[in-house]
Amino acid sequence: IKKIGVLTSGGDAPGMNAAIRGVVRAALSEGLEVYGVYDGYLGLYEDRIEKMDRRSVSDVINRGGTFLGSARFPQFKDEAVRQKAIENLNKHGIEALVVIGGDGSYMGAKCLTEMGYPCIGLPGTIDNDVPGTDYTIGYLTALNCVISAIDRLRDTSSSHNRISVIEVMGRYCGDLTMAAAIAGGAEYAIVPEKPYDETQLIEDVVKGIKNGKKHSIIVVTEHITDVHQLSKKIEARTGRETRATILGHVQRGGAPTAFDRVLASRMGVYAVDLLINGHGGRCVGVVSGELVHHDIIDAIENKRRVFDEELYLTAAKLF
Ligand code: ADP
Repeated sequence: IKKIGVLTSGGDAPGMNAAIRGVVRAALSEGLEVYGVYDGYLGLYEDRIEKMDRRSVSDVINRGGTFLGSARFPQFKDEAVRQKAIENLNKHGIEALVVIGGDGSYMGAKCLTEMGYPCIGLPGTIDNDVPGTDYTIGYLTALNCVISAIDRLRDTSSSHNRISVIEVMGRYCGDLTMAAAIAGGAEYAIVPEKPYDETQLIEDVVKGIKNGKKHSIIVVTEHITDVHQLSKKIEARTGRETRATILGHVQRGGAPTAFDRVLASRMGVYAVDLLINGHGGRCVGVVSGELVHHDIIDAIENKRRVFDEELYLTAAKLF
């Protein structure tokens, strides 16, 4: 193999830059040519592909987001669109592609692999919802961001005896919520992996107040309920001022933590190693601290992320 490409796709995540840098620098040190694709699969389709050198990735390891840009490009589900993308890659002589993104981006990489074009997937998303890895690049940075937001809300909520409902990201994965609830000392965590009983939650809050709780912090994963409506109901039932805060995109920004920079760098280097050793159609993960790779088609079709019951039970004892 002589030429490889790299792109970032889907929702951006802190540490994506470190992963691109890992791929670029590792490829160059192995004597490969490496090409960056701008704006994910959209740029692949539009042939916005540029040769990278060591300087292309200078001063990016500390920056959040992705300097290559990312895009949502649903047209990539269309085989003819993907065929055009493969033609563009072939035109440049690029023989394999590293895709850094979440489960949607993995689908795109899987489809290219099925069409005979080898891809390597690196898990880049704050949601931690990618199969085959304990941690995704960006997850722990986002977790720190959520915790600092909860700490701030706690200060003002406890000063006012206020109840706080905080919506965090995660799509359909409760990892960010569970860990943030534990680390942020929240009283309740509502996650998609567990049944949600609004009446029960409200009665638990009432019971907490009766037992002398000065304030309550309720952390909820997005897409479960309307947190503003929930706050109104809690306020009506308890008579306590209740405010909802949707943390939104602040969770996706900021400088990656040391852990994410190291993880992203390791994964970037590992992806190049896999390609040099003749592996294509793989996705990379970190399991119990070790880098691993799986068949990308099998990972998407058969591997499911397992919800961390231990974390859930731990939280239940702390609330
Ligand atoms: P993430 O990668 O963060 O999960 P998305 O779900 O938006 O983000 O996916 C990113 C991109 O991956 C999409 O905009 C699309 O270009 C591509 N993609 C998603 N699903 C598929 C699919 N089933 N087939 C081909 N490409 C897909």
